[in-house]
Amino acid sequence: MPPAWRHRRFPPPLASLLLWAVVACAGALGLAATRLQQLHAAFETDARIVHRLLSQRVVQHDAIMATLALLQPGAAAGDAASAAPLPRLPSVYPQILAVLQRTGQDPWPVPLQAELSAAEAASRRTGHAAMAALDLPAGRYHLVLAGTPASYALQIDLRATIPAEEWPMDRDRSPVRVTLEHGGKAFVVQPGRAGDDAGASRLRSYDFHKQLAAASQPLEVVALRSVGLSELPWWGMLGWCVLTAGLWAAGHALWRQRAARQRAEELLRLGQVARLNTLGELAAGMAHELNQPLTALLSSTQAAQRLLDDDPPDLGTAQSALARAVEQARRASAVVGRLRRLVERPDLGGQVQPLPLPAVVQDALRLLQPDLAQHGVAVEVDAAVPDLPPVLAEPVALQQILHNLLTNALQALEQMPPAERRLRIGLSLPDAAHVALSVRDDGPGIPPEARQRLFEPFFTTRRGGLGLGLTLCESLAQAMGAHLALAPEAPGSQGRGAEFVLTLPTAPAAPTATSFTTPTRP
Ligand code: ADP
Repeated sequence: MPPAWRHRRFPPPLASLLLWAVVACAGALGLAATRLQQLHAAFETDARIVHRLLSQRVVQHDAIMATLALLQPGAAAGDAASAAPLPRLPSVYPQILAVLQRTGQDPWPVPLQAELSAAEAASRRTGHAAMAALDLPAGRYHLVLAGTPASYALQIDLRATIPAEEWPMDRDRSPVRVTLEHGGKAFVVQPGRAGDDAGASRLRSYDFHKQLAAASQPLEVVALRSVGLSELPWWGMLGWCVLTAGLWAAGHALWRQRAARQRAEELLRLGQVARLNTLGELAAGMAHELNQPLTALLSSTQAAQRLLDDDPPDLGTAQSALARAVEQARRASAVVGRLRRLVERPDLGGQVQPLPLPAVVQDALRLLQPDLAQHGVAVEVDAAVPDLPPVLAEPVALQQILHNLLTNALQALEQMPPAERRLRIGLSLPDAAHVALSVRDDGPGIPPEARQRLFEPFFTTRRGGLGLGLTLCESLAQAMGAHLALAPEAPGSQGRGAEFVLTLPTAPAAPTATSFTTPTRP
């Protein structure tokens, strides 16, 4: 399959649009990722603070128990004195609901005999206090420390252990759920946002698990946080997209402006070259037209001169008059000769250089794009070979030829209904030494009588046409060693359409750009 590409009427800036989409998405994702990172870091910090605060509080219970152990009934002056601080403890520590004491084999003064005794036995084994009668949902438990002769138990209310003033979060509104857990039961310290109702829009979940730093109360601090879609920085992300879209639009407008200016400059340059060449064509045409009568004048005066030789001639007058006529004719001829030398085509052979033909074609199409678009002409470029070798040509001349051929095709297509305005540019390799560039249109075609005369100076069928465009193209092509011709009518075309073929020599393969030398014309 030969590679082919279509020149769109209005090439949408798809690539730059895609680039904008990528930049906008990447920026928005970056903002979202940063927000998630911030939320995670804040969650971790809060959870650690909560763990530290709660640990400090429960460690206090151990300290109180240790103090109570020191107040054993036997260690002080009497039972009454040692028991005195006990009733005051709850008023000092609001989380302590009651202080229980049992001496020797006496029963505990509450009905929880079995739990308290089991905890007492455990405390005696481990050497530190033990929990008993744990009712986590209600936030209650007993802490028992075995001693001799008396053992002590504190009834603790977890709700009062939470230091509201140092708490790092708003306990009613924070989305973080904090619980103290043990044996599958939990005391809710802070409800947080219900984890399940955010299910559909849940983006991330963070969790924190760490046991309180008190061996006597092995409760686990569990913090959970789910991040919903609504917590993403949507306004920031939208702002970023709008900002980049604005920048893209501004950049695109600048780019279009620059392209339009470049096109205008190039058209101006082409116009100047065309005008200069047209003047040359005009002068060459005049020279051609003038030369014939002058030559005739010269021969007739010479004949008259011979006749005047007959009898009875006024030899002196006739001879001098004719001599002046001859002289004038010669001078006119010399003027024409000079004019002709003046307007002779420059030798472009020395200025040729290797050029990539597809790029030259794209350049020419870019120049004419507004006209092509305005007239709704669909352009198709077909490259028959994938790696077309560079051609040897003079850049401005090649551009001029291509521009003329495309303009002619455009003018021909203007006469067709809009749906039939198609222009095809073909690039092919007729042989190893040449590249052919064809410009074919689906216009009205060229009548047989005009086909013979297309390249004659001043031949035109167009109102206001000069008839010099193709003549100029042909001589520019010849000057740089190329060849321009009208392709034979395609069979079955019934005279419709016209195709011009420019055959250019390929550039010899050069090892490096600097060692390349342009060949001289044959
Ligand atoms: P001008 O464009 O000034 O007429 P050109 O030398 O460019 O001069 O063209 C000479 C003539 O060749 C045109 O008047 C037109 O009749 C004919 N011609 C050139 N190109 C085409 C084409 N693509 N389709 C039909 N006729 C064409």
